[in-house]
Amino acid sequence: VSAILIDGRAAASRILRRLRERTRALLEHGTRPHLTVLHVGAHPASAAYLESQRRHAKSASIEFSTRRLREDASAADVERELEALSADSRVHGILLPLPLPALLDAAQLQARIDPRKDVEGVNPENLGRLLSGRPGIVPCTAASVLEILEPERLPLEGAEVVVVGHSTIVGKPVALLLLDRFATTTVCHVGTRDLASHTRRAEVLIVAVGKPGLVRGDMIRPGAVVIDVGTTRVQDPDGSWTIRGDVVLEEALPVASRITPVPGGVGPVTVALLLRNVVDAAERLSTGSGAAV
Ligand code: NAP
Repeated sequence: VSAILIDGRAAASRILRRLRERTRALLEHGTRPHLTVLHVGAHPASAAYLESQRRHAKSASIEFSTRRLREDASAADVERELEALSADSRVHGILLPLPLPALLDAAQLQARIDPRKDVEGVNPENLGRLLSGRPGIVPCTAASVLEILEPERLPLEGAEVVVVGHSTIVGKPVALLLLDRFATTTVCHVGTRDLASHTRRAEVLIVAVGKPGLVRGDMIRPGAVVIDVGTTRVQDPDGSWTIRGDVVLEEALPVASRITPVPGGVGPVTVALLLRNVVDAAERLSTGSGAAV
């Protein structure tokens, strides 16, 4: 018996198809949704993610532009740029890729993005709204985990769900979204003493760490649904580069019931939901209902 691979690319295509209809309607009213990415320094690790955003934005008639600041840009330089983009009525979504150069504080800068254009949901206002149960713009990777679980028709209420990783952008928001669905949610992290004792209980296991091979087959409960968020570029012995998840897929396949592959699982859905956030923002800003996210 082998787990069913959850096809993130197919789910992303469905989301993008619906988006195209919405962008067409916006274009008819003179608004072209526009996402701007502000790069600070070089980001080799996120190049594939950004390329995917560019390609899918184009396919959904969303304008995609980039601005670049040098590696040695000061916090004031980045803040000035984010404030200018926030004030620019032609821009509906702003993305600040991480990691930033070591001397810059991501949270301080994310706070300078207009919350209505914060399409990654990382501004304190959007994070606070998520915590208070009145979500504004939800971090797209966390939202994509729920989007992937939705058609699986799992009764999340009362389910044992374990999230490995507690970052602000993935682990914590996923846990909050699951709590809102009344899942019994355990969050594991570097301080967790016996990771396997938790993961083995999980009916739904969500792993967002960035350590290939962290979750082995014997750490998975038979029949579990496994969502592997991890994406790490690794060099194979032949010198080529591939993207690996955190779960050892070959070991998980005979144990789990369903699992997201890497690549082709969470990644494409995240890109589609990021673009959906841009279209949502463009609709709200163009109709003047921007304040009520
Ligand atoms: P992050 O900020 O580095 O967070 C990683 C988390 O894992 C932290 O909470 C860390 O705990 C925890 N951790 C580290 N080692 C651990 C261990 N041995 N056992 C249990 N927990 C451990 O990374 P992130 O931004 O959340 O991203 C996580 C992964 O998802 C990365 O591979 C990233 O590339 C990927 N990602 C994928 C997508 C997508 O669309 N597919 C989107 C975003 C991110 P501490 O903070 O306490 O160290």
